[in-house]
Amino acid sequence: MKKRYVSTVLLSMSLLFSTPAFAAKGEVADEANWDVAPAPSNYNPALKEKLDKQGKTNGVSTLASNPVIVIDPGHGGSDSGAVGNGLQEKNLTLDIATRAKNYVVANYPATVYMTRSSDATVSLEDRASYANNLGASFFVSMHINSATATSANGLETYNYYGSTNGAQLATSAYNKLKTSYSSLRGVKEAGFYVLKYTNMPAMLGETGFISNSTDAANLGSALFRQNLATQYAQGMHEYWWGF
Ligand SMILES: [Zn+2]
Repeated sequence: MKKRYVSTVLLSMSLLFSTPAFAAKGEVADEANWDVAPAPSNYNPALKEKLDKQGKTNGVSTLASNPVIVIDPGHGGSDSGAVGNGLQEKNLTLDIATRAKNYVVANYPATVYMTRSSDATVSLEDRASYANNLGASFFVSMHINSATATSANGLETYNYYGSTNGAQLATSAYNKLKTSYSSLRGVKEAGFYVLKYTNMPAMLGETGFISNSTDAANLGSALFRQNLATQYAQGMHEYWWGF
């Protein structure tokens, strides 16, 4: 009897404090969290902390060297990621990432690597380990969102909890990408694997919902994907060079 009362109270409290079901804005994207796989052997928490706090300050482009950027097209190979409206997340992320790399290399003095450049299966450990081995300046993971509610739509970007430079990177990209969206879901924090176990500032972008018919129709357009790629690239530029 007492136990039942407690669980009723807890249920009431959880209803009181939880986000209403219709408010998809409070949800966190369904990407792999840090605890689904072991850390890569070259993960260095002290270096992560150092690189997250130093080196860059807002709007000041006094950096001595040009950046080494790792772009991470989400999923791939046997992992399709989210699917819907005739699209697969793994194909969209590879296309946007490839276009973003091409734009950066053509326009900025930066070196760009990708964690995959084909429809290959790449583990989370290998993605983070690859960037750590390269000593990358920053890491940009590209994803497409999905939700049970087909009405959920729009843009959101992520950085790891409390990450200073990660938040700046995620915000710079968001502020460019937002011109492609009417529904702006914000810059958020999450414990995604590739955000935690990369030794450098990192962000993850969710450019639209594959489960939403309007977002999916946009994502199916090569012109729209090129715009996203250009906006990602411009966000990277703003993050590194300050404008
Ligand atoms: Zn994804």
